[in-house]
Amino acid sequence: MSTAWAGGTDAILERMDKMTELFVAETRKAIYTGESASHCEECGEPIPEARRQAIACKYCLPCQTELEKG
Ligand SMILES: [Zn+2]
Repeated sequence: MSTAWAGGTDAILERMDKMTELFVAETRKAIYTGESASHCEECGEPIPEARRQAIACKYCLPCQTELEKG
Protein backbone atom coordinates (compact mmCIF):
# COMPACT_ATOMS: atom_id res chain seq x y z
CA MET A 1 0.00 0.00 0.00
CA SER A 2 1.34 3.42 -0.90
CA THR A 3 1.94 6.01 1.79
CA ALA A 4 2.96 8.76 -0.62
CA TRP A 5 0.00 10.83 0.55
CA ALA A 6 1.17 10.83 4.16
CA GLY A 7 -1.75 11.66 6.36
CA GLY A 8 -4.20 11.29 3.48
CA THR A 9 -6.74 13.74 2.18
CA ASP A 10 -7.68 14.93 5.67
CA ALA A 11 -4.18 16.28 6.28
CA ILE A 12 -4.23 18.14 2.97
CA LEU A 13 -7.63 19.65 3.67
CA GLU A 14 -6.52 20.64 7.16
CA ARG A 15 -3.47 22.39 5.74
CA MET A 16 -5.62 24.25 3.22
CA ASP A 17 -7.92 25.33 6.03
CA LYS A 18 -4.98 26.80 7.93
CA MET A 19 -3.74 28.64 4.85
CA THR A 20 -7.19 30.08 4.18
CA GLU A 21 -7.40 31.18 7.81
CA LEU A 22 -4.04 32.93 7.56
CA PHE A 23 -4.99 34.57 4.29
CA VAL A 24 -8.25 35.89 5.72
CA ALA A 25 -6.47 37.17 8.83
CA GLU A 26 -3.85 38.97 6.73
CA THR A 27 -6.49 40.47 4.45
CA ARG A 28 -8.49 41.69 7.45
CA LYS A 29 -5.40 43.29 8.93
CA ALA A 30 -4.67 45.11 5.66
CA ILE A 31 -8.23 46.39 5.38
CA TYR A 32 -8.90 47.39 8.96
CA THR A 33 -5.56 48.48 10.36
CA GLY A 34 -2.97 48.59 7.59
CA GLU A 35 -4.61 51.39 5.67
CA SER A 36 -5.41 53.65 8.58
CA ALA A 37 -2.87 56.20 9.76
CA SER A 38 -2.79 57.76 13.23
CA HIS A 39 -1.71 61.07 11.75
CA CYS A 40 -2.78 62.80 8.57
CA GLU A 41 -0.35 62.12 5.73
CA GLU A 42 -1.10 65.53 4.26
CA CYS A 43 -0.69 67.91 7.20
CA GLY A 44 0.46 65.68 10.07
CA GLU A 45 -2.52 66.45 12.30
CA PRO A 46 -3.65 63.59 14.53
CA ILE A 47 -6.66 61.79 13.10
CA PRO A 48 -9.46 61.33 15.67
CA GLU A 49 -9.76 57.71 16.77
CA ALA A 50 -13.48 57.67 16.05
CA ARG A 51 -12.76 58.54 12.43
CA ARG A 52 -10.04 55.92 12.14
CA GLN A 53 -12.32 53.24 13.51
CA ALA A 54 -15.23 54.23 11.30
CA ILE A 55 -13.19 54.06 8.11
CA ALA A 56 -9.65 53.19 7.06
CA CYS A 57 -8.17 56.61 6.36
CA LYS A 58 -4.87 58.42 5.95
CA TYR A 59 -6.01 62.01 6.14
CA CYS A 60 -7.78 64.25 8.61
CA LEU A 61 -11.24 65.43 7.67
CA PRO A 62 -10.27 68.87 6.22
CA CYS A 63 -7.56 67.31 4.02
CA GLN A 64 -9.84 64.46 2.95
CA THR A 65 -12.48 67.00 1.96
CA GLU A 66 -9.93 68.99 -0.04
CA LEU A 67 -8.64 65.86 -1.76
CA GLU A 68 -12.13 64.73 -2.68
CA LYS A 69 -12.82 68.10 -4.24
CA GLY A 70 -9.82 67.47 -6.45
ZN1 LIG B 1 -4.69 66.83 7.33
